[in-house]
Amino acid sequence: MPKVNAKDMLLKATAENYAVGAFNVTNIIQMKAVIAAAVSKRSPLIIQTSVTPSKYLQPEVIAGVYSILAEQAPVPICLHLDHSDEVDYCKTCADAGYTNIMIDASKHDFEENIQQTLEVSRYCHDRGISVEGELGTVCGIEDQVVVAEDEAQLCDPDKAQEFALKSEIDLLAPAIGTAHGVYKTSNPVLDFDRLEKIAEIINGKEPRIPLVIHGGTGLSDDVVRRLVSLGGAKFNVSTELKHVLIDTTYDYIGEHRDQYNPGKLDVAVSAAITACIERWIDLLGSGDKA
Ligand SMILES: [Zn+2]
Repeated sequence: MPKVNAKDMLLKATAENYAVGAFNVTNIIQMKAVIAAAVSKRSPLIIQTSVTPSKYLQPEVIAGVYSILAEQAPVPICLHLDHSDEVDYCKTCADAGYTNIMIDASKHDFEENIQQTLEVSRYCHDRGISVEGELGTVCGIEDQVVVAEDEAQLCDPDKAQEFALKSEIDLLAPAIGTAHGVYKTSNPVLDFDRLEKIAEIINGKEPRIPLVIHGGTGLSDDVVRRLVSLGGAKFNVSTELKHVLIDTTYDYIGEHRDQYNPGKLDVAVSAAITACIERWIDLLGSGDKA
């Protein structure tokens, strides 16, 4: 299929009350494995990279591979830059061929967040690229963005509408208590009422600005379903994929210590990642929605 940005994909998800998974990858093997799951489940899907792997591999390389794989796939696939806190790097990735860009200026005050996000929105919209902004801060560690638990601030529903309109974003990531990394408790405190209120204010009559849930790893299936039912339309999962990758690699090498065939290791890792993503697609309800 032709390359797509995230906006129409997520407006449809919001209207039909399912979510599209957005999965962090750091190399081509993972990219192929994630797309394989989308194809087998006939699901739309978002591949995302954080800033460090994007800079390491080079955005042109990532976008180049994405372009080939997305056009071969019979389902819509979007390439998203996650949590860039540099306006210039957002533009670099937009020029390279990413189709959705997240400018995370949430550490700044409200007005500065709007200004930086607006600059990225206008640049990207001229190029047919959609933009995600963040209001409030998600605690934990996501690549270069580190937010301590006692510094995290939840998204103010009364400010969400103003932020979304003034910054001209396509997607809003409201902080509602989810966290990056591994949750310290099996039952993290999430503010469902806050999400519901934001969804009502922003998307009440008709979906306009789909909502993004960060920190998907470690939430129970029931919590994920509830977040989706309350309006979460893009669901970010990063840490779980890192665990699958490292654990599968470790186990495979442990069991095949006398084997020196990286291709077989790639196959084992790919299969584990594909299975992980297929489970998420079932959970989020995006299967057969391509
Ligand atoms: Zn995030």
